[in-house]
Amino acid sequence: MFTANGYYSLLQGSYLFSEIAKRAAAFSSAHPEADIIRMGIGDVTRPLVPAVIDAMHKAVDEMAHEETFRGYGPEDGYEFLREAIVRRDYLSRGIPVGPDEVFVSDGAKCDVGNIQELFSSDCVIAVQDPVYPVYVDTNVMSGRSGRFINGAYEKIVYLPATAENGFVPEMPKQKVDVMYLCYPNNPTGATLTREQLKSIVEYAIENRVLILYDSAYEAYIQTDSAPHSIYEIDGAKQCAIECRSMSKTAGFTGTRCAYTVVPKDLVYRDTFGNEVSLNKMWFRRMATKFNGVAYIIQRAAEAALSDEGYRQILGVVDDYMENARIIRTSLADSGFEVYGGVDAPYIWLKVPGGDSWAFFDELLTRYHIIATPGAGFGRSGEGYLRMTAFASRANTIRAMERIREGRAL
Ligand code: PLP
Repeated sequence: MFTANGYYSLLQGSYLFSEIAKRAAAFSSAHPEADIIRMGIGDVTRPLVPAVIDAMHKAVDEMAHEETFRGYGPEDGYEFLREAIVRRDYLSRGIPVGPDEVFVSDGAKCDVGNIQELFSSDCVIAVQDPVYPVYVDTNVMSGRSGRFINGAYEKIVYLPATAENGFVPEMPKQKVDVMYLCYPNNPTGATLTREQLKSIVEYAIENRVLILYDSAYEAYIQTDSAPHSIYEIDGAKQCAIECRSMSKTAGFTGTRCAYTVVPKDLVYRDTFGNEVSLNKMWFRRMATKFNGVAYIIQRAAEAALSDEGYRQILGVVDDYMENARIIRTSLADSGFEVYGGVDAPYIWLKVPGGDSWAFFDELLTRYHIIATPGAGFGRSGEGYLRMTAFASRANTIRAMERIREGRAL
């Protein structure tokens, strides 16, 4: 008799963004005249850059001819793309990553979820709090969470990242096996200094902790001294997997392309005591369960990483970061305590009164602005609100004017 996976029942309520959409829809139907500005969900709004579009057109034409048509590609990505990734993201910074350590996929969301197939079922998971919800929910689905009690899962170790510790959590006192880190951080917008990242890597090596380093927002880093990759730190290849995405870097949220670096140095004992290579295991997993990202999309990603393409995508990033600057300075001028928005497209605002859903409702009903309540990202997110820099320039400016003037609409 079939039995369904009971761990899904441990997942909490509706997904954060569904609840936001529900409240926004209710408000909109009661006030159809309201001109709502959306600064909530982290989706990009600018179109793909010309270099990417040209490459896609070319690849589409190749598919139309027998001599250049492509069927199944390599499960871990075409070599042309893996080499472009290595050149642009790693060798350019003096980081020795090989193309056979790079795995191309259709999203960092899938990768951060799927990668736990490499973890034994009793691994203890640590996450930053507030956290990108996917790290937690995917571990709940596979039975590593325990029950949800008083706003937290009993078996997950939460590492609070708040204004008090500069949004850089202290390392866990108890034993953990895997630690998810996200820098530049979603939702707080914080980045790490090289020294901070170095001490985290030292902790991980000393305690044989595997770090899952999500740097989906790496392209947004503006501070020269901030590390772009965990592999800039000596020894990190022995303790960290790094996930990157073309979604926010190059506007691929709908196009879908990401990559994960699984270094060959990651060698551990498995549940049977065998010494195993995570790189080989991940290759096996990709080959067994994935048939590769579409050729057209991989050519598009390659073009985004070319000199011309990269110049173009950084132009778009700069444009979003100007929005971030406008939001950050306007909110500060209006008397709010604001964080982030310097090396990330997220602004993390301290909520007056401390109730993030109440402040969400106030922003919606009074100013017709949608943002994301910090409480939706975990207990330590309560008291904050996330705004994104992905709206149009005109809407960003109008939203800030509404708040600055404090007017009820
Ligand atoms: N990781 C973080 C921290 C994110 O914020 C997001 C998207 O919002 C993702 C991963 C998902 O990336 P992708 O679009 O490549 O699945």
